[in-house]
Amino acid sequence: MNPRIASPQRTKQIIQKYNFHLLKKFGQNFLIDENILDEIVWSAGVTETDCILEIGPGIGSLTQALAENAFKVIAVEIDAKLIPILQDTLKEYKNIEIINKDILKVDLKQLIEEKSEGKPVKVVANLPYYITTPIIMELLEKKLPIQSITVMVQKEVAERMQASPGTKDYGALSLAVQYYAETCIVAKVPPNCFMPSPAVESAVIRLDVSKEPRVQVQDERLFFALVKAAFGQRRKTLMNALYNLGGLSLDKQQITELLQQAGLDEKVRGEALDLAQFGRLADTIHRFINK
Ligand code: SAM
Repeated sequence: MNPRIASPQRTKQIIQKYNFHLLKKFGQNFLIDENILDEIVWSAGVTETDCILEIGPGIGSLTQALAENAFKVIAVEIDAKLIPILQDTLKEYKNIEIINKDILKVDLKQLIEEKSEGKPVKVVANLPYYITTPIIMELLEKKLPIQSITVMVQKEVAERMQASPGTKDYGALSLAVQYYAETCIVAKVPPNCFMPSPAVESAVIRLDVSKEPRVQVQDERLFFALVKAAFGQRRKTLMNALYNLGGLSLDKQQITELLQQAGLDEKVRGEALDLAQFGRLADTIHRFINK
């Protein structure tokens, strides 16, 4: 095994050697804890037949650990200044492809088709926190052929993704993620595991992507519009949220009946409903407006 990039000394050396200036705007907090690195690779279940998509390789700490365990790593990095550094730190590895692009501007379906060589694809990353939600939603909503997403994110965001109905963290993000995937927080990570230390706590979360959405609905757009409305005005009843939902034009009597048909109390708040209940309500409304 080659010496690890992730040790604090080596990371410092590499940064100094290249006179690299870490950019806050790109969320550049590099991992310097080798145990956490191993935990990420282990909990992602990386095997030698997997193709890994890594977002934001930085100076290559996680990329190296992934390349030692996977068939192949495709690493997408936005910062052009990191590309020559990566080409040097990872030169021993023949199974890494580095792509200098903004992950949010990449056609991921095409990238996976062209580069994965038919292998199962897993996403593994220490994400740039400023774009965590757009990245996760892009990966899930595009219904890409990926098995799982194991990522380091801000702890609060991991808790929101995993939250259950009725808890303070439960919201539109919980439902959006849980619609597509099963969630599992696998580690909590303190700031001193990074260089420089971020101002927030972090966590590693694994999302096991389901082949089909975890609740079947007739109209996905209506389902997500309902979720958005329910949490847009968190303290309001679902009755009021639906009444104010543009495009539906339902009166209160109709909403009461629809809630009853979906097996819900007219005073219920959206934050109390689970995925299946939101699905049932969306289908009840769908049937009503299409009859
Ligand atoms: N993987 C490295 C590690 O664990 O030490 C670096 C992780 S650092 C938290 C986030 C990385 O994502 C940085 O290298 C940053 O330049 C990169 N990044 C930020 N925005 C990006 C984007 N839109 N597309 C691709 N990479 C991005």
